[in-house]
Amino acid sequence: MNPQKSFSNSPSAGPRAHPERMIAIASGKGGVGKSTVAANLAVILARQGFRVGLVDADLYGPSIPGMLGIPGGTPPAMTPDKKVIPAEAHGVKVISMGMLTGDDRPAILRGPMVTKYLRMFVAQVEWGELDILLLDLPPGTGDTQLTLAQAFPLTGAVVVSTPQDVSLKIARRGLRMLEQVNVPILGIVENMSGFTCPSCGEVTHIFHRGGGERIADSLGVPLLGIIPLDPAIVDGGDSGVPLVVAAPDSPAAKAYAAIAETLAVGKGAAVGLRVPFNWNVTTGEGRPAPAPDAATDRPLSLDCDATGLTIRWADCTQQIDPRDLRLACRCAACRDEVSGKPLLNPATIALDVTPNRIWSVGNYALGVAFSDGHNSGIYTWSALRGIESPEAENV
Ligand code: ADP
Repeated sequence: MNPQKSFSNSPSAGPRAHPERMIAIASGKGGVGKSTVAANLAVILARQGFRVGLVDADLYGPSIPGMLGIPGGTPPAMTPDKKVIPAEAHGVKVISMGMLTGDDRPAILRGPMVTKYLRMFVAQVEWGELDILLLDLPPGTGDTQLTLAQAFPLTGAVVVSTPQDVSLKIARRGLRMLEQVNVPILGIVENMSGFTCPSCGEVTHIFHRGGGERIADSLGVPLLGIIPLDPAIVDGGDSGVPLVVAAPDSPAAKAYAAIAETLAVGKGAAVGLRVPFNWNVTTGEGRPAPAPDAATDRPLSLDCDATGLTIRWADCTQQIDPRDLRLACRCAACRDEVSGKPLLNPATIALDVTPNRIWSVGNYALGVAFSDGHNSGIYTWSALRGIESPEAENV
């Protein structure tokens, strides 16, 4: 395999405390294939020439060692300065609770111990130089995930979901948890999306399609890829030889490769307007600093006065009338979540309504509080771009 160009901002030499990219692989619930995605992405990134580490942060149900063929129960070696030497499999450096306890014995740990182990896994492991460190989070949106997200400078998180569970509710909960601690959502991976026929290799969509795309759209985050249901993935996981090695030409392996490429070049990563901010529009306090970066679909700057909200994008400047902004609210009170039909009667909205406060929601949206007291709307970047003000059309 030819090593590819390393990350653009990666210095070529010298020890580093942290890898260039630290990406968490998360899911709202278990069994959606999160660990399988993490293992296959790690291996394909290593095959693409990146120096990759993988932390099995699922302390209660570590499955990564089994998926990569690393024997459980053998305590890892230590360096003289008491750093843990990670196992290495398929070109990936791996640390997992399974290596300490044996992979079929979930660790029984109380909260503070979880934090301690997680910190150790990232900071006290002899990773050497890494380009990318993937963290396979435990499923859900609880304390462990928050601990990780807060303790480490995560570049962002990838949310894995299946077509059945791509309900707005689960994904929203996950996003809220991550946005609380300002972890950018790099995108959504829809897994087990269609069936790959073992004899002809054709992919048939046995569940409804497009769930991942809909959810990514509605939340304003990218859909990174769709991985078909493939029995060979289960075999790969059981045998310790991931699909990207066992069947690199299969549709699923190609889907993993495409996702890895997107993550490696940083598409979907955060650039543009600096977050977080909490801007009191009336006093001007907390106004977000404009960003110099171009070529992004995130705003570069925001202004707000009596004429409305002015958003400078890389390719245009958009002016949104304050009342149009209020009428475009997509919160559950203003718009039916399922059908998307408006519930808000425009006649009830005052002509002089204005935003009082504007704040960042993760790296993908704005929250707005209006002079009529309404404050539950979240405006994703793509939703904002879609708002057409009559005034703006004439500009
Ligand atoms: P999670 O980490 O979300 O709990 P796992 O990665 O452990 O889920 O996967 C659960 C099961 O689903 C495993 O047996 C795995 O081999 C299987 N699996 C994952 N992705 C696929 C897929 N695309 N097609 C078929 N089986 C899959």
